[in-house]
Amino acid sequence: MKFVSTRGIAESCTFEDAVLAGLASDGGLYVPEELPHFSVDTISSWSQLTYEDLAVNIMYPFVEAEISKKSLEAIIKKSYSVFRNSDIAPMLEFRNNNWILELFHGPTLAFKDFALQFLGNLLDHIVESREEKLVVLGATSGDTGSAAIEGCQDCRNIDIFILHPHNRVSEVQRRQMTTIKNKNVHNIAINGNFDDCQAIVKKAFSNQSFLKGERRLIAVNSINFARILAQIVYYFWSYLRVGCPKDGIVYSVPTGNFGDVYAGYLALKMGLPVKKLLVATNSNDILHRCINNNDHSPKKVNASLAPSMDIMISSNFERLLFDAYERDANLIRDMMKRVSTQTVMLTNNALSRIRENFWSYRSSDDEIVEMIRAYFKNFNYTLDPHTAIGMSASLEYRKSCECPIVTLATADPSKFPDISNQTFLERPELPPHLQSILKNPEYFSILNNSQLEVENFIIQKIFD
Ligand SMILES: *Cc1c(COP(=O)(O)O)cnc(C)c1O
Repeated sequence: MKFVSTRGIAESCTFEDAVLAGLASDGGLYVPEELPHFSVDTISSWSQLTYEDLAVNIMYPFVEAEISKKSLEAIIKKSYSVFRNSDIAPMLEFRNNNWILELFHGPTLAFKDFALQFLGNLLDHIVESREEKLVVLGATSGDTGSAAIEGCQDCRNIDIFILHPHNRVSEVQRRQMTTIKNKNVHNIAINGNFDDCQAIVKKAFSNQSFLKGERRLIAVNSINFARILAQIVYYFWSYLRVGCPKDGIVYSVPTGNFGDVYAGYLALKMGLPVKKLLVATNSNDILHRCINNNDHSPKKVNASLAPSMDIMISSNFERLLFDAYERDANLIRDMMKRVSTQTVMLTNNALSRIRENFWSYRSSDDEIVEMIRAYFKNFNYTLDPHTAIGMSASLEYRKSCECPIVTLATADPSKFPDISNQTFLERPELPPHLQSILKNPEYFSILNNSQLEVENFIIQKIFD
């Protein structure tokens, strides 16, 4: 399968090259030139498959030119063996055809494990045959760092370095990263804030010469296509669990960088009978404003009760715009120059193409608290603040729709226990297997906010 850049200057490339590159050299994002397509009959015939076997069927057409089916099976098996629920992604049905798809049974209790377990094992496999070694480098303010470390810790050909702002992430989030003591895992606490960490990572990518040409630097942020690919699977999975509704299905997706809901859009394009994708945002609502009012204007990020969705610009939205503008890369390239500083207006055609498949809803912090309280009262079920946003969108959309609605539950409530100060519900406890991280020794190095210090640290760790 060939991959093309949304900005049209970088040459098209293979799946493996798109994964290793992350971002295209022209600053664009890679998207498949064409998608595989499955009929509803074919999809329905998969209803007895395990999650892993279903994942092979869905992912294989994307990789078949480069990765054997056997290898793909092994990568998928290894990735999902660490999940704590035998269904991998269990489904619960509530009143009125409302469903919850629990995506938080991976090692770090958030849906990012689906993508980052797969990406770690995939990268390890790709470079094994090329006899290369990789350096994964990232900055984290919370969820992504721990999921990336969990995904890479057992990879033989990968060293992973994750920067976090010293004393500025929650204790649980820090300990999820720092209590892993594998030799290839390196936690760096920077004397600075998250933006300082991110700036160091960005500069390191633009100046890879410090690795002396002997290692390739890899970003594992949400624009990597392999992450999107892994996320397509659970849309098919949940359609099958609902019983293959002939009239279609609606998904409600708590959205930040638009990666997860874009995976749902690809599932739709691949033949899944998706009626609508609900884009559920918090008060950082650029996507809601864009879809609802054609107002894609950047605003300062404010800290909401759903911190993993606090973004100014959604990077993966570029992939959808590329389709909405009928793959006119010149136009996208021009538009993306302005997107982080100016208001971008979509054409009526582009907007109506988007609205065919998407609908949006925004929740305030007050609404998040209300929804968690209401859901607990009605169903004795605790939503995490991100999932509560998805649920609000579902219940609003329900007023005009009778078909099954699946809300993606993106995190375990025990990851965000502090909200209990506002909901006045019991503080959710970490599951037993994570209690130990509160006691285990931590491994991390504290460095100054200095490019040189970080680069020297990396060199010393990988070449000694
Ligand atoms: C990252 C994250 C999201 C947002 O996902 P995107 O793919 O960036 O839209 C939602 N909820 C949780 C818990 C997350 O960690």
